[in-house]
Amino acid sequence: AARRANALKIAVIAGDGIGKEVMPEGLRVLRAAAERFGLDITFDEFPFSSWDYYEQHGRMLPVDWKDQIGGHDAIYFGAVGWPEKIADHVSLWGSLLLFRREFDQYVNLRPVRLMPGVPSPLAGRKPGDIDFYVVRENTEGEYSSIGGRMFEGTEREVVVQETVMSRVGVDRILRFAFELARRTPKKHLTSATKSNGIAITMPYWDERVEAMAKHYPDVKWDKYHIDILTAHFVLNPQRFNVVVASNLFGDILSDLGPACTGTIGIAPSGNINPAGDFPSLFEPVHGSAPDIAGQGIANPVGQIWAGAMMLDHLGHAQAAAAIVRAIEEVLAQKPLRTRDLGGLADTETCGAAIADAVARSA
Ligand code: ATP
Ligand code: MG
Repeated sequence: AARRANALKIAVIAGDGIGKEVMPEGLRVLRAAAERFGLDITFDEFPFSSWDYYEQHGRMLPVDWKDQIGGHDAIYFGAVGWPEKIADHVSLWGSLLLFRREFDQYVNLRPVRLMPGVPSPLAGRKPGDIDFYVVRENTEGEYSSIGGRMFEGTEREVVVQETVMSRVGVDRILRFAFELARRTPKKHLTSATKSNGIAITMPYWDERVEAMAKHYPDVKWDKYHIDILTAHFVLNPQRFNVVVASNLFGDILSDLGPACTGTIGIAPSGNINPAGDFPSLFEPVHGSAPDIAGQGIANPVGQIWAGAMMLDHLGHAQAAAAIVRAIEEVLAQKPLRTRDLGGLADTETCGAAIADAVARSA
């Protein structure tokens, strides 16, 4: 049957550990947003990409996983990994990293925002001081497997690993970042580089940034070497709006950014295929947290915020903004925050409060 024009079909994969506890709260909030904003969303839940599935089937995914989820508008993901039972490289490479590669999710997007009620490890920072995006290239760059060892085991041993930057690969991440910057009020972009030390690939990156910037005359941009850029993340976070970086630099920045905003429990992440020929995947930054799983105390905000990013990506900016405002409203209240934020609430209380706030939103 033909799908209604504004109907969304979401593949839901809760995964392992606290993924199973925070996902129901993410869905609760998305259902509230759908109701409030008149969106038609179908959620299809899949049991794979989990230890339970692996135990029964001897693999992380069914053979036809691409057919099962490839036609959905997006993938809403919880957390994968149960290190007591299965090595992280097996669970990760057998699921999440396969999605990333097969669905060509070449953007990793992380909003970095200091929320009310969340103490920043940076002294004196208030909500509003830290509010930017890190855009990480997710498919090439420093994380290539080209290289090798020579004269192994001898005094002459040499090890080489190449960085790969293709024009297509660099341009597509820059285009995404400039487009994002253009949609933000500040219309400002920062490029992470190191062309004073890495003398071949990084000058090329800078060159492509300059070429791309010509297509975006309305976007102001600057560049920083990665060493001083990390210092400014900590000392002057208010300078940043959209920060675009290669795979390695982006990896570092996309952990440093959320660390400056307090807790791993609230940060979301998008693995995005902007062309939309395959679904993008939205997940909390945190993992399965075996140490607190099964107790109903995990912070559901990372999962819920990832849901907001997903709606924004799918063109429902108003509903997405309402969820982010609801998160801010609830985090400001100690009885509604979870314990990792010094609050009193369990996972469900916090999630239900955010869903309520979305239902009441203007
Ligand atoms: P990775 O997914 O990279 O393997 P990990 O398994 O090492 O990460 P996490 O599962 O994210 O790490 O957990 C790291 C720490 O943060 C743990 O002590 C965990 O309890 C805590 N933590 C993670 N997510 C949450 C959350 N949503 N609420 C409360 N605490 C959390
Ligand atoms: Mg883990």
